[in-house]
Amino acid sequence: MRSWQDIPRRGYVTRPTPLEELARFSEKAGVRVRVKRDDLLPLGGNKIRKLDYLIEEAVQAGADTLITASTNQCCHNSMTALLAAREGMACRVIMESWGDTRYRYETAANHAMMELCGPEETAVVTDLPSGPVEDMPEARRMAEAARTAGKKPWFLSRGGSGPLGALGYVRCAAELIGQWGDDPPEAVICPCGIGGTQAGLTVGLRLLGCRIPVVGVGVTGKGREDMERSVRSQCRELTDFLETEPVPEGAVRCVEGFSGGGYGKPSREQVLWMKALAASEGILTDPSYSGKALYGLCGLAARGEYRGPGGLVFLHTGGLQLFYDFSSLADVEA
Ligand SMILES: *Cc1c(COP(=O)(O)O)cnc(C)c1O
Repeated sequence: MRSWQDIPRRGYVTRPTPLEELARFSEKAGVRVRVKRDDLLPLGGNKIRKLDYLIEEAVQAGADTLITASTNQCCHNSMTALLAAREGMACRVIMESWGDTRYRYETAANHAMMELCGPEETAVVTDLPSGPVEDMPEARRMAEAARTAGKKPWFLSRGGSGPLGALGYVRCAAELIGQWGDDPPEAVICPCGIGGTQAGLTVGLRLLGCRIPVVGVGVTGKGREDMERSVRSQCRELTDFLETEPVPEGAVRCVEGFSGGGYGKPSREQVLWMKALAASEGILTDPSYSGKALYGLCGLAARGEYRGPGGLVFLHTGGLQLFYDFSSLADVEA
């Protein structure tokens, strides 16, 4: 077995994010809720935990140009551009434009943040790629262009997926166990996009001897079984990587029905819960990821699930910059 603590990282994440009790919101939701404030991570979201490991690998390999891809409302591309600048590296990024077809790059804050960091090149693709970044024709062309310019390109996985990225959430699991001590929750609720966050948490908790379920709330409109299959295979990649026991099938649970109109499209009910959290606790969630997980948490509570005294831990994955792409949530349709 490999010790996860010995796997090198850049050190972007310097201290645990807080775990906070939400007394007023708990009353509204009808269940005890604590929030893990990963929205307070440097640069505001979960991707930095993944990039902490992924960029270390690129640095060790002597790379000077990062090439990556992610969907238009994922924080991975913008955060990669920021961190590349911080490392004195170049980057070339591919935006996968799907979900809301009205998404406008010219005005999107997530895109603007990225452009501000001066990537050498950005490309937009409209077909949803099925394979890894290195199989994308745009990425191959970018790598060739970098090589021609005498640079050493490095492919970073799409959306920070894969075992090394998921390791960031093994670290988060260790923080959580230390924080809740002898007052654990009934379950941890997180958004499920690609599923690396959920896979990392699931493997991390079990690795540390904790059997508390992790529930992923789908944000893309994919069916439950599809999502669970994908998260299970990512758990498997991670346990293989760590040379440890695989997690049992039943340890992976995803829920559907909380993703509104699909990726990037929140429902009215979701926005009402986002407002409830903001108004009672001063915590903002984003429409595409954390707001959907919040809605899922409240939906599970309303069904009477996980009603023990430990309540629920809401993993707030951040994504605040996505909020600015929805300047008016008031007219969101049901
Ligand atoms: C990418 C992202 C997620 C989803 O993480 P996965 O590991 O892809 O499931 C959740 N929240 C925010 C803000 C993100 O950018």
